[in-house]
Amino acid sequence: MADILIHDAIVLTVNQDHQILKNGSIRIADGTIQAVDPTAPADRDRSADRVIDAGGKVVLPGLIDAHRHTDFTLVQGLFSELEGEELLKEALALYHSAEPTLGDGFFEAAWQLACLRQLTHGVTTVNAMDFTPALGAEAIGDAGLRGVIGPELADFLKPDTPDEQLAEAREFIETHHDTYEGRVRASIAPGGEAGCTRALWDGVADLRDEYPELRLHTHLYDSDAADTMAAGSGADDPLDLLEQYDLLDERTLLTHLLHADRDDARRIAAAGAHVLHCPTVYSYFQAGERTWFPLPALTEFGANIAIGLDDPFWFDSWDLLQEAKHARLLSNFEYGAQQWSSYDLIKMLTIDAAQALGLDDRIGSLEPGKRADLVIIDIDTPRLQPFSNLPSVLTNSVTAGDIETVIVDGTILMEDNQVRSMDVEQVRAAAARERERLQAETGWGTSLAGSSPPDTSILRRVSGRPLVRALKQYGRGFVHEHV
Ligand SMILES: [Zn+2]
Repeated sequence: MADILIHDAIVLTVNQDHQILKNGSIRIADGTIQAVDPTAPADRDRSADRVIDAGGKVVLPGLIDAHRHTDFTLVQGLFSELEGEELLKEALALYHSAEPTLGDGFFEAAWQLACLRQLTHGVTTVNAMDFTPALGAEAIGDAGLRGVIGPELADFLKPDTPDEQLAEAREFIETHHDTYEGRVRASIAPGGEAGCTRALWDGVADLRDEYPELRLHTHLYDSDAADTMAAGSGADDPLDLLEQYDLLDERTLLTHLLHADRDDARRIAAAGAHVLHCPTVYSYFQAGERTWFPLPALTEFGANIAIGLDDPFWFDSWDLLQEAKHARLLSNFEYGAQQWSSYDLIKMLTIDAAQALGLDDRIGSLEPGKRADLVIIDIDTPRLQPFSNLPSVLTNSVTAGDIETVIVDGTILMEDNQVRSMDVEQVRAAAARERERLQAETGWGTSLAGSSPPDTSILRRVSGRPLVRALKQYGRGFVHEHV
């Protein structure tokens, strides 16, 4: 007997044949998809622990956010009206002054809120890079979600020595990798060419040898100083830096690449490395000369591309469907129309991202044998009817608010917009409490009209060598993620 039977759904399988069932049934048992077939009359009577009548609804694989930071989720709304350089300075100052005093309670509340946002936006899997990975592993695991979490290694920004950071990363991997029935996994996550010294890269290469099954997740080419930073580490350019440590292959995830060129695209594709693209954060806060990642060359050479929200709390949107829409619009604006089809975007949010994470044998499509991670979206509304191109509706009209039901690993986490796997009121209360504490500690003011930074100068709020060094190095560029 099936644990869950979904019938009469439009099923967007995202399988190899790109099959869309007009009227389909999905049977789930033991967390695994048993069958995806056209709905037969018998399906409606068949017994299962849970039968979901999905008439007028679309079922698609759970969405995968391919690149995100989480620690400072509770700054939501503080930065949304700043321009790029201002954002960088204020974020560095706030993060640095807040981090030592706020403690685990603050970051726990941040992860909880992030999980709630992720879940209610249909993001069943996140690829995160954070300074509080253990809190993240527990939050994601307990919420029933799936996540790949990398302890961010960056000795330009963290006071801990490379050895201390690497030891912590090793402990995280040993303790948390492949826990929660495989839903929580670890990655190796050096900040990037701009955040790490050679001593750290040496240790990263050792970690890679020790844990060959893990993904290497890093930022690359996100500032125009990328080549200079790589040269400071004795490499010709950022890709050469990775090659020197034997870190550029099909297990490598490279995010941003804003300043990468055609030849970089060729080398990335030839290595089989994956590209994580985060369009909103860069277009929203972009400072200085406009630049975009080398999409035409990446496409020509066949690189795999996935999409991430990066720092969703900076620009007040956790909607990955909208993120895909931005990816298309901004890339079309830069390079001309038809950079991606609607179905390409759906694939990037599902199977392509699963492939980047090395999880495409488990998730990313709706096929027998895969873990049951899926979302159910109500499209039977006057707002969306009639339509003829489902991928277009999903990537142009549907928003996360239309997502009704979310299932991960065969467990219903949200049903008819009701979250089942988290105590929503407790999450809200903790977020409000910790947010108030953050503002009291840092002097940030807020009103319904916006926010205002503290009066004291940024430099007086900033203390500690690593951060001052970072400000000097990156003050002119926009390298938001290294904070
Ligand atoms: Zn980032």
